[in-house]
Amino acid sequence: MDFGWTEEQEQRRREAVEFAETHLNDALIARNRDGEWSWEAWRACAEFGLLGLAVPEAYGGTDTDIMTTILVMEGIGYGCRENGLPFALNSLMWSVQPALVTFGTPEQNSTYLPRLVTGECVGAFAISEPETGSDSYAMATTAERVDGGYVLNGQKAYITFAPIAEFAIVFASTAPELGSWGISAFIVDRSTEGYTAEPVEEKMGLRTTPFGKLTFDGCFVPEENRLGPEGGGVAMFTRAMESERSYVLASQLGRMERQLDACVEYARERQAFGQSIGKFQAVSHRIADMTVRLETARHLLYKVAWLEQQGKPLLKEAAMAKLHISECFVESSLDAIRIHGAKGYATEFEVERDLRDGVGGLLYSGTSDIQRNIVSHITGL
Ligand SMILES: Cc1cc2nc3c(=O)[nH]c(=O)nc-3n(C[C@H](O)[C@H](O)[C@H](O)COP(=O)(O)OP(=O)(O)OC[C@H]3O[C@@H](n4cnc5c(N)ncnc54)[C@H](O)[C@@H]3O)c2cc1C
Repeated sequence: MDFGWTEEQEQRRREAVEFAETHLNDALIARNRDGEWSWEAWRACAEFGLLGLAVPEAYGGTDTDIMTTILVMEGIGYGCRENGLPFALNSLMWSVQPALVTFGTPEQNSTYLPRLVTGECVGAFAISEPETGSDSYAMATTAERVDGGYVLNGQKAYITFAPIAEFAIVFASTAPELGSWGISAFIVDRSTEGYTAEPVEEKMGLRTTPFGKLTFDGCFVPEENRLGPEGGGVAMFTRAMESERSYVLASQLGRMERQLDACVEYARERQAFGQSIGKFQAVSHRIADMTVRLETARHLLYKVAWLEQQGKPLLKEAAMAKLHISECFVESSLDAIRIHGAKGYATEFEVERDLRDGVGGLLYSGTSDIQRNIVSHITGL
Protein backbone atom coordinates (compact mmCIF):
# COMPACT_ATOMS: atom_id res chain seq x y z
CA MET A 1 0.00 0.00 0.00
CA ASP A 2 1.42 3.35 -1.04
CA PHE A 3 0.44 6.34 1.10
CA GLY A 4 2.45 8.81 -0.97
CA TRP A 5 0.44 11.57 -2.65
CA THR A 6 1.36 13.14 -5.96
CA GLU A 7 2.10 16.86 -6.07
CA GLU A 8 -1.15 17.30 -7.99
CA GLN A 9 -3.18 15.54 -5.27
CA GLU A 10 -1.55 17.64 -2.55
CA GLN A 11 -2.29 20.76 -4.57
CA ARG A 12 -5.96 19.71 -4.82
CA ARG A 13 -6.10 19.35 -1.04
CA ARG A 14 -4.50 22.77 -0.51
CA GLU A 15 -7.00 24.34 -2.91
CA ALA A 16 -9.88 22.65 -1.07
CA VAL A 17 -8.65 24.03 2.27
CA GLU A 18 -8.33 27.53 0.82
CA PHE A 19 -11.74 27.31 -0.86
CA ALA A 20 -13.46 26.18 2.36
CA GLU A 21 -11.71 28.81 4.49
CA THR A 22 -12.76 31.54 2.06
CA HIS A 23 -16.33 30.49 1.19
CA LEU A 24 -17.79 28.26 3.89
CA ASN A 25 -17.20 30.01 7.21
CA ASP A 26 -19.39 33.11 7.05
CA ALA A 27 -21.47 33.88 10.16
CA LEU A 28 -21.05 30.35 11.44
CA ILE A 29 -22.11 30.93 15.03
CA ALA A 30 -25.35 32.64 14.00
CA ARG A 31 -26.11 30.15 11.22
CA ASN A 32 -25.47 27.26 13.57
CA ARG A 33 -27.67 28.76 16.28
CA ASP A 34 -30.48 29.38 13.79
CA GLY A 35 -30.07 26.06 11.97
CA GLU A 36 -29.70 27.96 8.71
CA TRP A 37 -28.94 26.16 5.45
CA SER A 38 -26.88 28.17 2.95
CA TRP A 39 -27.67 27.69 -0.75
CA GLU A 40 -24.96 30.24 -1.45
CA ALA A 41 -22.29 28.07 0.17
CA TRP A 42 -23.74 24.97 -1.49
CA ARG A 43 -23.59 26.52 -4.96
CA ALA A 44 -20.05 27.72 -4.30
CA CYS A 45 -19.19 24.05 -3.54
CA ALA A 46 -20.80 23.05 -6.83
CA GLU A 47 -18.84 25.68 -8.72
CA PHE A 48 -15.65 24.48 -7.07
CA GLY A 49 -16.45 21.02 -8.48
CA LEU A 50 -17.18 19.11 -5.27
CA LEU A 51 -20.61 17.87 -6.33
CA GLY A 52 -19.23 16.33 -9.52
CA LEU A 53 -16.27 14.47 -8.02
CA ALA A 54 -18.10 11.12 -7.85
CA VAL A 55 -20.22 11.56 -10.99
CA PRO A 56 -19.30 10.39 -14.53
CA GLU A 57 -18.37 13.02 -17.10
CA ALA A 58 -21.41 12.08 -19.20
CA TYR A 59 -23.60 13.63 -16.49
CA GLY A 60 -21.51 16.74 -15.84
CA GLY A 61 -19.12 15.29 -13.25
CA THR A 62 -15.38 14.69 -13.28
CA ASP A 63 -15.32 11.01 -12.23
CA THR A 64 -12.33 11.73 -10.01
CA ASP A 65 -10.40 8.77 -8.58
CA ILE A 66 -11.40 7.82 -5.06
CA MET A 67 -8.04 8.59 -3.37
CA THR A 68 -8.03 12.15 -4.76
CA THR A 69 -11.70 12.58 -3.88
CA ILE A 70 -11.26 11.71 -0.21
CA LEU A 71 -8.18 13.93 0.00
CA VAL A 72 -10.19 16.85 -1.38
CA MET A 73 -13.00 16.16 1.12
CA GLU A 74 -10.42 15.97 3.91
CA GLY A 75 -9.24 19.43 2.81
CA ILE A 76 -12.83 20.71 2.94
CA GLY A 77 -13.09 19.41 6.51
CA TYR A 78 -9.86 21.18 7.46
CA GLY A 79 -10.92 24.49 5.96
CA CYS A 80 -14.58 24.52 7.02
CA ARG A 81 -14.99 25.23 10.73
CA GLU A 82 -18.30 23.39 11.07
CA ASN A 83 -19.39 19.89 10.10
CA GLY A 84 -22.93 20.48 8.81
CA LEU A 85 -22.12 21.47 5.25
CA PRO A 86 -19.33 18.86 4.83
CA PHE A 87 -21.76 16.24 6.15
CA ALA A 88 -24.38 17.39 3.64
CA LEU A 89 -21.84 17.17 0.80
CA ASN A 90 -20.71 13.71 1.83
CA SER A 91 -24.25 12.54 2.33
CA LEU A 92 -25.22 13.46 -1.23
CA MET A 93 -21.98 12.19 -2.74
CA TRP A 94 -22.02 8.80 -1.06
CA SER A 95 -25.70 7.81 -1.05
CA VAL A 96 -27.90 9.64 -3.58
CA GLN A 97 -25.30 9.98 -6.33
CA PRO A 98 -23.92 6.39 -6.25
CA ALA A 99 -27.45 4.95 -6.16
CA LEU A 100 -28.27 6.85 -9.35
CA VAL A 101 -24.91 6.21 -11.02
CA THR A 102 -25.03 2.46 -10.32
CA PHE A 103 -28.72 1.70 -10.76
CA GLY A 104 -30.25 4.59 -12.71
CA THR A 105 -31.27 4.34 -16.34
CA PRO A 106 -29.60 6.82 -18.74
CA GLU A 107 -32.89 8.78 -18.75
CA GLN A 108 -33.08 8.92 -14.95
CA ASN A 109 -29.44 9.92 -14.69
CA SER A 110 -29.75 12.62 -17.36
CA THR A 111 -32.75 14.04 -15.50
CA TYR A 112 -31.27 14.14 -12.01
CA LEU A 113 -27.47 13.94 -11.95
CA PRO A 114 -26.52 17.09 -13.91
CA ARG A 115 -28.74 19.20 -11.64
CA LEU A 116 -27.17 17.68 -8.55
CA VAL A 117 -23.71 18.44 -9.94
CA THR A 118 -24.50 22.11 -10.59
CA GLY A 119 -26.06 22.48 -7.15
CA GLU A 120 -29.38 23.46 -8.69
CA CYS A 121 -31.16 21.01 -6.42
CA VAL A 122 -30.52 18.34 -3.79
CA GLY A 123 -32.00 14.87 -3.38
CA ALA A 124 -32.70 12.80 -0.28
CA PHE A 125 -32.03 9.12 0.39
CA ALA A 126 -34.94 7.87 2.45
CA ILE A 127 -34.84 4.51 4.21
CA SER A 128 -35.33 5.15 7.95
CA GLU A 129 -38.82 5.34 9.37
CA PRO A 130 -40.21 6.41 12.74
CA GLU A 131 -40.30 2.74 13.87
CA THR A 132 -37.37 1.27 11.92
CA GLY A 133 -33.79 2.53 11.65
CA SER A 134 -31.12 -0.14 12.15
CA ASP A 135 -33.71 -2.78 11.30
CA SER A 136 -34.49 -0.93 8.09
CA TYR A 137 -35.81 -3.90 6.10
CA ALA A 138 -38.73 -4.11 8.53
CA MET A 139 -39.99 -0.86 6.97
CA ALA A 140 -43.73 -0.22 6.81
CA THR A 141 -43.80 1.97 3.68
CA THR A 142 -45.49 0.18 0.81
CA ALA A 143 -45.58 0.64 -2.95
CA GLU A 144 -48.61 -1.02 -4.44
CA ARG A 145 -48.49 -1.82 -8.13
CA VAL A 146 -51.22 -0.11 -10.17
CA ASP A 147 -51.72 0.56 -13.84
CA GLY A 148 -48.65 2.47 -15.13
CA GLY A 149 -46.80 2.62 -11.83
CA TYR A 150 -47.05 2.35 -8.05
CA VAL A 151 -48.89 4.03 -5.19
CA LEU A 152 -46.71 4.81 -2.17
CA ASN A 153 -47.99 5.04 1.39
CA GLY A 154 -45.85 5.53 4.48
CA GLN A 155 -43.45 7.79 6.27
CA LYS A 156 -39.68 8.30 6.37
CA ALA A 157 -38.00 9.97 9.35
CA TYR A 158 -34.69 11.65 10.17
CA ILE A 159 -33.85 12.11 6.52
CA THR A 160 -31.00 14.43 5.51
CA PHE A 161 -32.21 17.15 3.09
CA ALA A 162 -35.87 16.10 3.50
CA PRO A 163 -37.23 19.66 3.92
CA ILE A 164 -35.51 21.05 0.80
CA ALA A 165 -34.95 18.03 -1.48
CA GLU A 166 -36.42 18.30 -4.95
CA PHE A 167 -36.70 14.52 -5.10
CA ALA A 168 -36.14 11.57 -2.81
CA ILE A 169 -34.93 8.05 -3.46
CA VAL A 170 -37.52 6.22 -1.39
CA PHE A 171 -37.35 2.59 -0.30
CA ALA A 172 -40.71 0.82 -0.03
CA SER A 173 -42.02 -2.70 0.01
CA THR A 174 -43.57 -3.87 -3.26
CA ALA A 175 -44.09 -7.39 -1.86
CA PRO A 176 -44.32 -7.41 1.96
CA GLU A 177 -44.61 -11.23 1.97
CA LEU A 178 -41.04 -11.46 0.59
CA GLY A 179 -39.52 -9.44 3.46
CA SER A 180 -36.26 -7.75 2.48
CA TRP A 181 -36.43 -9.27 -1.03
CA GLY A 182 -39.65 -7.38 -1.62
CA ILE A 183 -38.10 -3.95 -1.15
CA SER A 184 -37.76 -1.65 -4.16
CA ALA A 185 -36.56 1.92 -4.65
CA PHE A 186 -38.30 4.84 -6.35
CA ILE A 187 -37.33 8.33 -7.39
CA VAL A 188 -40.17 10.47 -6.08
CA ASP A 189 -40.40 14.12 -7.10
CA ARG A 190 -41.33 16.66 -4.47
CA SER A 191 -44.07 18.00 -6.76
CA THR A 192 -45.91 14.64 -6.72
CA GLU A 193 -49.37 14.78 -5.19
CA GLY A 194 -49.40 13.12 -1.76
CA TYR A 195 -45.72 13.95 -1.05
CA THR A 196 -45.18 16.06 2.09
CA ALA A 197 -41.89 17.21 3.61
CA GLU A 198 -41.52 18.57 7.13
CA PRO A 199 -38.40 19.71 8.97
CA VAL A 200 -37.18 18.55 12.36
CA GLU A 201 -37.01 22.01 13.91
CA GLU A 202 -34.18 21.46 16.39
CA LYS A 203 -31.33 19.03 16.60
CA MET A 204 -28.21 18.68 18.71
CA GLY A 205 -25.58 19.16 16.00
CA LEU A 206 -25.07 19.39 12.22
CA ARG A 207 -27.52 22.22 12.62
CA THR A 208 -26.82 23.84 9.25
CA THR A 209 -27.97 20.69 7.43
CA PRO A 210 -31.72 20.31 6.80
CA PHE A 211 -33.18 17.13 8.24
CA GLY A 212 -36.76 15.93 8.56
CA LYS A 213 -39.70 13.75 7.70
CA LEU A 214 -41.27 12.67 4.40
CA THR A 215 -44.84 11.43 4.17
CA PHE A 216 -46.34 9.60 1.20
CA ASP A 217 -50.09 9.51 1.16
CA GLY A 218 -51.45 7.72 -1.90
CA CYS A 219 -48.51 9.08 -3.88
CA PHE A 220 -48.55 7.86 -7.50
CA VAL A 221 -45.09 7.17 -8.94
CA PRO A 222 -44.85 6.22 -12.62
CA GLU A 223 -43.11 2.97 -13.53
CA GLU A 224 -40.21 4.82 -15.19
CA ASN A 225 -39.34 6.30 -11.77
CA ARG A 226 -38.59 2.92 -10.22
CA LEU A 227 -34.84 2.81 -9.58
CA GLY A 228 -33.42 -0.60 -10.45
CA PRO A 229 -35.53 -3.74 -10.69
CA GLU A 230 -38.50 -4.58 -8.49
CA GLY A 231 -37.08 -6.23 -5.36
CA GLY A 232 -33.68 -4.63 -6.03
CA GLY A 233 -33.82 -2.41 -2.93
CA VAL A 234 -31.50 -4.54 -0.82
CA ALA A 235 -28.74 -4.52 -3.44
CA MET A 236 -29.08 -0.77 -3.78
CA PHE A 237 -29.15 -0.17 -0.05
CA THR A 238 -26.10 -2.40 0.41
CA ARG A 239 -24.18 -0.58 -2.33
CA ALA A 240 -25.12 2.87 -1.03
CA MET A 241 -24.39 1.95 2.59
CA GLU A 242 -20.98 0.58 1.60
CA SER A 243 -19.93 3.83 -0.02
CA GLU A 244 -21.60 5.99 2.63
CA ARG A 245 -20.09 4.02 5.49
CA SER A 246 -16.70 4.21 3.80
CA TYR A 247 -16.47 7.88 3.00
CA VAL A 248 -19.16 9.91 4.75
CA LEU A 249 -16.60 10.82 7.43
CA ALA A 250 -13.75 11.80 5.07
CA SER A 251 -14.13 15.47 5.95
CA GLN A 252 -13.98 14.69 9.64
CA LEU A 253 -10.33 13.72 9.26
CA GLY A 254 -9.60 17.28 8.18
CA ARG A 255 -11.72 18.61 11.01
CA MET A 256 -9.80 16.44 13.52
CA GLU A 257 -6.51 17.77 12.18
CA ARG A 258 -7.72 21.37 12.49
CA GLN A 259 -8.96 20.64 16.01
CA LEU A 260 -5.59 19.15 16.97
CA ASP A 261 -3.69 22.15 15.55
CA ALA A 262 -5.90 24.51 17.56
CA CYS A 263 -5.39 22.48 20.74
CA VAL A 264 -1.59 22.43 20.33
CA GLU A 265 -1.54 26.19 19.79
CA TYR A 266 -3.76 26.80 22.81
CA ALA A 267 -1.76 24.43 25.03
CA ARG A 268 1.41 26.32 24.10
CA GLU A 269 -0.08 29.75 24.81
CA ARG A 270 -2.32 29.28 27.83
CA GLN A 271 -0.44 29.82 31.09
CA ALA A 272 -1.25 28.22 34.47
CA PHE A 273 0.91 27.85 37.56
CA GLY A 274 3.73 29.74 35.83
CA GLN A 275 4.00 27.62 32.71
CA SER A 276 2.13 26.79 29.53
CA ILE A 277 -0.54 24.15 30.15
CA GLY A 278 1.04 21.96 27.45
CA LYS A 279 3.89 21.31 29.92
CA PHE A 280 1.47 19.40 32.15
CA GLN A 281 1.54 15.75 31.27
CA ALA A 282 -2.24 15.52 31.67
CA VAL A 283 -2.63 17.99 28.80
CA SER A 284 0.22 16.75 26.61
CA HIS A 285 -1.08 13.17 26.87
CA ARG A 286 -4.47 14.32 25.68
CA ILE A 287 -2.75 15.86 22.68
CA ALA A 288 -0.89 12.58 22.15
CA ASP A 289 -4.18 10.63 22.28
CA MET A 290 -5.76 13.02 19.79
CA THR A 291 -2.78 12.57 17.46
CA VAL A 292 -3.01 8.78 17.65
CA ARG A 293 -6.76 8.90 16.98
CA LEU A 294 -6.27 11.13 13.95
CA GLU A 295 -3.53 8.97 12.46
CA THR A 296 -5.31 5.65 13.04
CA ALA A 297 -8.55 7.08 11.65
CA ARG A 298 -6.67 8.38 8.62
CA HIS A 299 -4.96 5.05 7.97
CA LEU A 300 -8.26 3.18 8.09
CA LEU A 301 -9.93 5.57 5.67
CA TYR A 302 -7.01 5.58 3.24
CA LYS A 303 -6.98 1.78 3.34
CA VAL A 304 -10.66 1.63 2.41
CA ALA A 305 -10.09 3.98 -0.54
CA TRP A 306 -7.02 2.03 -1.58
CA LEU A 307 -8.97 -1.26 -1.45
CA GLU A 308 -11.67 0.29 -3.63
CA GLN A 309 -9.08 1.50 -6.10
CA GLN A 310 -7.66 -2.04 -6.26
CA GLY A 311 -11.16 -3.47 -6.78
CA LYS A 312 -10.88 -5.50 -3.54
CA PRO A 313 -13.60 -6.27 -0.96
CA LEU A 314 -13.82 -3.63 1.75
CA LEU A 315 -16.90 -4.39 3.84
CA LYS A 316 -15.02 -5.05 7.09
CA GLU A 317 -12.58 -2.18 6.58
CA ALA A 318 -15.40 0.24 5.77
CA ALA A 319 -17.26 -0.72 8.97
CA MET A 320 -14.04 -0.34 10.97
CA ALA A 321 -13.36 3.07 9.42
CA LYS A 322 -16.89 4.35 10.11
CA LEU A 323 -16.78 3.05 13.69
CA HIS A 324 -13.30 4.30 14.48
CA ILE A 325 -13.47 7.76 12.86
CA SER A 326 -16.83 8.60 14.40
CA GLU A 327 -15.86 7.44 17.89
CA CYS A 328 -12.42 9.10 17.68
CA PHE A 329 -14.00 12.39 16.64
CA VAL A 330 -16.31 12.40 19.65
CA GLU A 331 -13.47 11.50 22.04
CA SER A 332 -11.15 14.12 20.57
CA SER A 333 -13.87 16.76 20.60
CA LEU A 334 -14.34 16.13 24.30
CA ASP A 335 -10.58 16.36 24.82
CA ALA A 336 -10.54 19.65 22.89
CA ILE A 337 -13.12 21.03 25.33
CA ARG A 338 -11.11 19.80 28.33
CA ILE A 339 -7.95 21.44 26.96
CA HIS A 340 -9.73 24.76 26.40
CA GLY A 341 -11.42 24.74 29.82
CA ALA A 342 -14.45 27.05 30.04
CA LYS A 343 -13.57 28.57 26.66
CA GLY A 344 -14.14 25.11 25.24
CA TYR A 345 -17.66 25.17 26.64
CA ALA A 346 -18.61 28.68 25.48
CA THR A 347 -20.05 28.79 21.96
CA GLU A 348 -18.17 31.97 20.97
CA PHE A 349 -14.83 30.11 20.86
CA GLU A 350 -16.17 27.52 18.40
CA VAL A 351 -14.76 24.50 20.22
CA GLU A 352 -17.95 22.88 21.59
CA ARG A 353 -19.65 22.62 18.18
CA ASP A 354 -17.48 19.66 17.13
CA LEU A 355 -18.77 17.55 20.00
CA ARG A 356 -22.39 18.32 19.13
CA ASP A 357 -21.74 17.63 15.45
CA GLY A 358 -19.66 14.53 16.15
CA VAL A 359 -22.38 12.67 18.06
CA GLY A 360 -24.45 12.39 14.87
CA GLY A 361 -21.64 10.29 13.39
CA LEU A 362 -22.29 7.59 15.99
CA LEU A 363 -25.79 7.17 14.52
CA TYR A 364 -26.11 7.91 10.82
CA SER A 365 -24.97 5.43 8.12
CA GLY A 366 -25.38 2.64 10.69
CA THR A 367 -24.80 3.11 14.43
CA SER A 368 -21.52 2.11 16.05
CA ASP A 369 -23.24 -1.05 17.34
CA ILE A 370 -24.20 -2.02 13.79
CA GLN A 371 -20.61 -1.43 12.58
CA ARG A 372 -19.36 -3.65 15.43
CA ASN A 373 -21.88 -6.33 14.38
CA ILE A 374 -20.49 -6.24 10.83
CA VAL A 375 -16.86 -6.42 11.98
CA SER A 376 -17.46 -9.27 14.45
CA HIS A 377 -19.56 -11.15 11.91
CA ILE A 378 -16.85 -10.97 9.24
CA THR A 379 -14.24 -11.83 11.84
CA GLY A 380 -16.03 -15.15 12.36
CA LEU A 381 -18.86 -14.75 14.86
C1 LIG B 1 -27.76 13.29 11.41
C2 LIG B 1 -28.52 12.10 10.89
C3 LIG B 1 -28.77 12.00 9.54
C4 LIG B 1 -29.53 10.94 9.05
N1 LIG B 1 -29.82 10.88 7.71
C5 LIG B 1 -30.56 9.85 7.23
C6 LIG B 1 -30.89 9.79 5.84
O1 LIG B 1 -30.53 10.67 5.05
N2 LIG B 1 -31.63 8.74 5.40
C7 LIG B 1 -32.06 7.75 6.24
O2 LIG B 1 -32.72 6.84 5.75
N3 LIG B 1 -31.77 7.79 7.56
C8 LIG B 1 -31.04 8.81 8.08
N4 LIG B 1 -30.75 8.88 9.42
C9 LIG B 1 -31.30 7.87 10.32
C10 LIG B 1 -30.24 6.85 10.73
O3 LIG B 1 -29.91 6.04 9.63
C11 LIG B 1 -30.79 6.05 11.89
O4 LIG B 1 -30.89 6.93 12.99
C12 LIG B 1 -29.90 4.87 12.26
O5 LIG B 1 -29.94 3.88 11.28
C13 LIG B 1 -30.33 4.26 13.60
O6 LIG B 1 -31.70 3.95 13.60
P1 LIG B 1 -32.65 4.45 14.80
O7 LIG B 1 -32.36 5.89 15.05
O8 LIG B 1 -34.02 4.07 14.45
O9 LIG B 1 -32.15 3.65 16.06
P2 LIG B 1 -32.55 2.12 16.40
O10 LIG B 1 -32.34 1.27 15.22
O11 LIG B 1 -33.88 2.11 17.04
O12 LIG B 1 -31.43 1.78 17.47
C14 LIG B 1 -31.56 2.19 18.85
C15 LIG B 1 -30.37 1.60 19.59
O13 LIG B 1 -30.39 0.15 19.50
C16 LIG B 1 -29.17 -0.30 18.94
N5 LIG B 1 -29.41 -1.45 18.07
C17 LIG B 1 -30.42 -1.62 17.17
N6 LIG B 1 -30.27 -2.78 16.52
C18 LIG B 1 -29.15 -3.35 17.00
C19 LIG B 1 -28.44 -4.56 16.73
N7 LIG B 1 -28.85 -5.44 15.79
N8 LIG B 1 -27.29 -4.81 17.40
C20 LIG B 1 -26.84 -3.92 18.34
N9 LIG B 1 -27.46 -2.79 18.65
C21 LIG B 1 -28.58 -2.51 17.98
C22 LIG B 1 -28.62 0.89 18.14
O14 LIG B 1 -27.22 0.79 17.91
C23 LIG B 1 -29.04 2.04 19.01
O15 LIG B 1 -28.09 2.18 20.06
C24 LIG B 1 -29.99 9.93 9.94
C25 LIG B 1 -29.71 10.03 11.30
C26 LIG B 1 -28.99 11.10 11.79
C27 LIG B 1 -28.71 11.19 13.26
